[in-house]
Amino acid sequence: MRIAIIGGGLTGLTLAFYLEQAGVPYDLLEASPRPGGNLLSPRAPEGYQLEAGPNSLLLSTELEELLTELGLQDAIQEAAPVSQHRYVLRQGQYQALPASPPALLASSFFGFRTKLRLLAELLRRPAPPVPGETVAAFFARHFGPEVVQYAVNPFVAGIYAGDPAELLLSLTFPQLATLEARHGSLLRGLAKGPKTGRRRTVTLRGGVQTLTDALAARLRAYQPGQPVTAVRRLAGGQYEISCAGQPQPALYSHVALALPTYAAAELLAPQFPAAAAALAAVRYPPMTLVYSAYDRAAVAHPLQGFGALNPQVEGTYSAGSIWTSSLFPDRVPTGQVLFTSFVGGVQFARQAQEPEATQLAAVHAELSRLYGISGEPRWQGRAYWAQSIPQFDHQLAAARAAVAPLAAEGIVAAANWQAGVSVPDCVRHARQLAQQLAPPGK
Ligand SMILES: Cc1cc2nc3c(=O)[nH]c(=O)nc-3n(C[C@H](O)[C@H](O)[C@H](O)COP(=O)(O)OP(=O)(O)OC[C@H]3O[C@@H](n4cnc5c(N)ncnc54)[C@H](O)[C@@H]3O)c2cc1C
Repeated sequence: MRIAIIGGGLTGLTLAFYLEQAGVPYDLLEASPRPGGNLLSPRAPEGYQLEAGPNSLLLSTELEELLTELGLQDAIQEAAPVSQHRYVLRQGQYQALPASPPALLASSFFGFRTKLRLLAELLRRPAPPVPGETVAAFFARHFGPEVVQYAVNPFVAGIYAGDPAELLLSLTFPQLATLEARHGSLLRGLAKGPKTGRRRTVTLRGGVQTLTDALAARLRAYQPGQPVTAVRRLAGGQYEISCAGQPQPALYSHVALALPTYAAAELLAPQFPAAAAALAAVRYPPMTLVYSAYDRAAVAHPLQGFGALNPQVEGTYSAGSIWTSSLFPDRVPTGQVLFTSFVGGVQFARQAQEPEATQLAAVHAELSRLYGISGEPRWQGRAYWAQSIPQFDHQLAAARAAVAPLAAEGIVAAANWQAGVSVPDCVRHARQLAQQLAPPGK
C-alpha cells in the first residue's frame, strides 16, 4: 500500500501526519513552494500580524491534541474576553447581538412579533427533515423572517461566504436537522443537549500558519513545488501520478485528493468525467480581505467585541469586519486599532472583484461612517482569493454523491468540501480518514 496525497493544505498535511504515525507509506505532493493552502499569515512591514485565511480558531479536542502532538501548546493564544460580544448592523447602527435566547427575549434587538415566534417555537413537535431545505427556509420556519434577515443571513455570510437561501441545511448544519427530528423545537433541544461548555476562541502566536508550517516540517514525505498534472488508473488498479516537477510518474495503490473541487475535477476529467463534471460545478465565490489601521484616538466606537456583521438588507459594501486589535491586541502596534473587513462571498461578489484602490477607499469610507472615524488610515492592505470557500448547496451535494463511489477504486476525497470548512472540521476529517486508510493492526 502506498498513498499519494495531492494537496498540502491543512487537510492533506494532517492526513499525512496521522498516516505517518500509523506507519502507512505516502507521498504528499503540494503545488506551491509554501505549505498550508488557506492558512496564510503575512506580517506587514508596518508591524501588523495579519491573517489572509482563518482569523481565529474554535479549539476542538482534536485540534488541541494535534497542536500538543506538534509541541505547539505554548503557541496557543486566547482571544481577549471581549470577543464574546458580537455586533450586527440595524438601520445603520451597530447593536449587540444577544448571546442566548433568554437574553434575546430581554433585549430590544428583535421586535415583539419575533419574540412571540421564539416562544411559540418551544411548542414545536418532532418532525422529519424536509428534503432539500435551505438554511433560510429552515430558520424562517422556526423563527420567522426577521431572524433570517438579521441573524442567520450575516452569520452565514461571515462564516461560509454564502447565502442562506442557497445553502442546504443538511450539509451546512446537519446537527440542527437532528435536533428537529428528536425534539421538534431547536430551543428545547439545545437546552436539553449536553453542556459541553463554550469552545475557546484562539489563534497561534505568529499566525495560524504556524500550524501548517509545523506539520510540513515534521513530515518525512512532504514534497513542495510539485503540481500534480495527471492521475491515471492503470489496468492492474494502480495509479500513476505525474507531476510538473518530476521527470517520471510514480505508482500508488491509493490517491487522496486533498484539493479544492475545481482542482480535483481537472485531474479526474480524463478517466472519471462524470465525477469531474460534478466537482467542477461547485461554487467558490471570490473574497477580498481589507485591512485598515487607525490611531485609536481617531475611532469613536469602543470596539469592545469580536467584530460586527452587516446583513445584506443594510446595503453595505462589506459583509462586516473583525476587530483584530480587540481580539488579539498584540497583533497591532500600541495605540492603533486594526479592522479586517470581508468584501465578497456570494452576497457581496461584485465588490470582491473591484480594483484594489476602489476597495480600500470604499472600506475606509464605510468604516468612517459606521465607527465614527476621523482622518485617514495609518495603513491599508488587502488579500484576495479568487475562489474562497466551497458553497454547501445542491451542487456540492451532487459532487459528494459523484465522488463517493470512487472510494471503492482507491480514490478518496479529503478536503474542506467533504466534512466541513472550519479548521477543526478539516483536522477531524483528516484524522478519521487516516484511521480508515491505515490497514488493521497498523
Ligand atoms: C478567507 C478565508 C477565511 C477563513 N476563515 C476561517 C476561520 O476564521 N476559521 C476557520 O476555522 N476556518 C476558516 N476558513 C476555512 C479554512 O481555512 C479552510 O476550509 C481550510 O484551510 C481548507 O483546507 P484544505 O486543506 O481542505 O484546502 P486548501 O487550503 O484549499 O488546500 C489545498 C491545497 O492543494 C494545493 N493544490 C491545488 N492544486 C494542486 C495540484 N494540482 N497538485 C498539488 N497540489 C495542489 C493547493 O496549493 C493547496 O495548498 C477560512 C477560509 C478562507 C478562504
